[in-house]
Amino acid sequence: MTAEPRPVFRFAPSPNGDLHLGHALSALVDHAMARAAGGLFLLRMEDIDVTRCRPEYERGIVEDLAWLGITWDGPIRRQSEHFDAYRKAMDRLWARGLVYPSFLTRTEIKARVEAAEAQGRIWPRDPDGAPLYPGDDRGLDEKAVEAAMIAGKPYAFRLKIAEAIAAANALAGPLDWTETGVGPDGEAGTIAARPERWGDVVIARKEVPTSYHLSVVVDDALQGVTHVVRGLDLFHATSVHRLLQVLLDLPAPVYHHHRLVLDETGRKLSKSFGDTSLKSLRAGGATPADIRKLVGLPPG
Ligand code: GLU
Repeated sequence: MTAEPRPVFRFAPSPNGDLHLGHALSALVDHAMARAAGGLFLLRMEDIDVTRCRPEYERGIVEDLAWLGITWDGPIRRQSEHFDAYRKAMDRLWARGLVYPSFLTRTEIKARVEAAEAQGRIWPRDPDGAPLYPGDDRGLDEKAVEAAMIAGKPYAFRLKIAEAIAAANALAGPLDWTETGVGPDGEAGTIAARPERWGDVVIARKEVPTSYHLSVVVDDALQGVTHVVRGLDLFHATSVHRLLQVLLDLPAPVYHHHRLVLDETGRKLSKSFGDTSLKSLRAGGATPADIRKLVGLPPG
């Protein structure tokens, strides 16, 4: 008889600010699910944005989690130490002709969208509300690309989303995932992935050889993650993750998206809400039990 493989969960914060109540809920729910399943709980620092991430934030995260009573298994994985792995994955997508360098800046995209909308066109938006990339430079020839790069223009490598979906469908049929939480519109069970809603997503940048989407799927696979527990704000990103997993021949974890902690105006908490940072709440005398109460969890 072979033993059931041990489930592997992970918590993957970005050390670009202090943890707030939203992170506390996520870490507590994730950790409780991992331990209830007899699984491993890994801690990963998603620090690919080397300009915004700092070691003192990582130290703060470690301190906050330990204070909350959260324990993790094995060493912390830092994405900034694994750029080679992401580069390799990017090269595989590139070799299949599914990626192109794009040169339009955010301001140029905005101007383009405004001009189109001024003429009554409805510009498609992604699930986060950002306009889809116009895709102008998909067909740029090598010479033009080289000239733009030599001129020092900033660029990002983007996925040719329609071609990427066609390639993934040819390999694995329609894309879906298993959701054990509930999506923003009540979705549950087997969810059909709709990566086309994101348009030509960024896969890597000029200064950083990866992106959130690419490194998250590479790491989840490398670390043997079987269960991804995270906030509902990342529910729709799962469509892109499933697409990349099929294209890179990586296994699909089970996904569980949990509710978010909202501020008084009903908006998702962000790192700029200093007053809900765990550090300042702790300094003000809050206990871990108070934090559980504040995020709507029963006493631990
Ligand atoms: N690093 C992401 C964040 O801090 C979480 C990524 C994930 O759990 O997939 O929002």
